[in-house]
Amino acid sequence: MLAGGPRERTGAMAMAAFVNLCPDVAPVETRTIIVRDHARLPDGEYGFIEHYCDDLHCDCRRVLVVVWTPATGIKAWATINYGWEETEFYRKWAKVSDEDMKGPFLDPLGVQSRYAEVLLAFFAKMVEDDAYIARLKRHYATFRKALRTQRRGRKAARRPTRGEGGDS
Ligand SMILES: [Zn+2]
Repeated sequence: MLAGGPRERTGAMAMAAFVNLCPDVAPVETRTIIVRDHARLPDGEYGFIEHYCDDLHCDCRRVLVVVWTPATGIKAWATINYGWEETEFYRKWAKVSDEDMKGPFLDPLGVQSRYAEVLLAFFAKMVEDDAYIARLKRHYATFRKALRTQRRGRKAARRPTRGEGGDS
C-alpha cells in the first residue's frame, strides 16, 4: 500500500508522494491505524500517506495526507491538508487570501469519501502529538533535500547524452 500513487494536485501546486522520493524512510515512518469495530469506519488498516509540494521555490510548510487502505489500493478515502506553522505564517505566505492554510482540513480539491470526516478526526488527534509534528517537519526537509539531489542529478545526466530527457 505504500507504493507511490499518482501525483495529487491541490491549487496551483503539485504534491508528490514522500515515498517516491524517500523510499527508505517512508515505509517505516508512515502513520497507520488499525480499525476494529468502529461505529463509523469499516474494519481495516489505514495509511496516512504524506505528500509534499514539489516546487523548490515554494516553502509552504505543509503536508497533504491521502488516506489509503490496502483493500482499495490507491483510492483516496480522505485528502487532508495540514500546515504545522502558526496561522500567521500561512496568512503571510498566501498573501492575497485569508483562507486558513493551517488546518487540518479536508482538501476542497482532493478526493474524499463518505468516511473522510471520520478520518480527518483521527488525523486531528495525531497532530496533537508533538512527536508526530516533528516527524512531518523532518520529512518535509528530507523530501526537499532528496528533490534537490534528484533534480541536480537529472541535469548532470542530461549533459553528456542530449536527447534523453527526464520525464518532466
Ligand atoms: Zn508549496
